[in-house]
Amino acid sequence: MWNGKMKAVTFSYDDGVIQDGRLVDMFNRYGLKCTFNLNSGIQSKANFWYDRMGTKVEHMNVRGLKELYVGHEIAAHTLTHPLLEELDDETIYNEIWQDKCILEDRFGQNIVGMAYPYGTYNDSIIKIARECGIKYARTVEYTEDFILPDEPLKLAATCHHKNTRLMELADKFIGLEPKQPAMFYVWGHSYEFDTYDNWDMMEEFCKKISGRDDIFYGTNAEVLLGVEKV
Ligand SMILES: [Zn+2]
Repeated sequence: MWNGKMKAVTFSYDDGVIQDGRLVDMFNRYGLKCTFNLNSGIQSKANFWYDRMGTKVEHMNVRGLKELYVGHEIAAHTLTHPLLEELDDETIYNEIWQDKCILEDRFGQNIVGMAYPYGTYNDSIIKIARECGIKYARTVEYTEDFILPDEPLKLAATCHHKNTRLMELADKFIGLEPKQPAMFYVWGHSYEFDTYDNWDMMEEFCKKISGRDDIFYGTNAEVLLGVEKV
């Protein structure tokens, strides 16, 4: 399936915040590949917010981002991170299409993926995303399983990194000898590692899941769109 392997691991992290630097460094040390979902219209340190624990969350500035994310995939997350279902169709199109075009120019990559802001979507949003050339889009749903999506524009993860079953699922995946292609898909926001002080947990997970001959480590696009290629 993936370079002849039946198992794949991939990651998805949102919002382009300053903690992505530390996370990229960790992924690079373990040979893991991630897709980073960015809002090109608000990619500035001037745009920040406070999460529910009171941690200040800052976007990175644009300069240096292309170099930071080398080796990983960039995907759309809309221009300004709105609740898409509250917008008219033309504005939904604008949010997705502009984000895709700006990111393609900024990163020199073909942008084929997306994560829905706040994870929310409906049939109309899916249709517009498809019109924009988006091939897969991540929700915030999770399966605690390793199945590939029937509809890539309603992509569910295996789990969020804070899922209490993360390590148990990792052990299960490592022991798996699947007949069908199996995907372990983890998502989150890198600022949450500061908020919950659990960088060590993520390091332990990366260490456990990495460096295995029977697992393909790829970006979302490589795993989801490369599945047909043997
Ligand atoms: Zn987001």
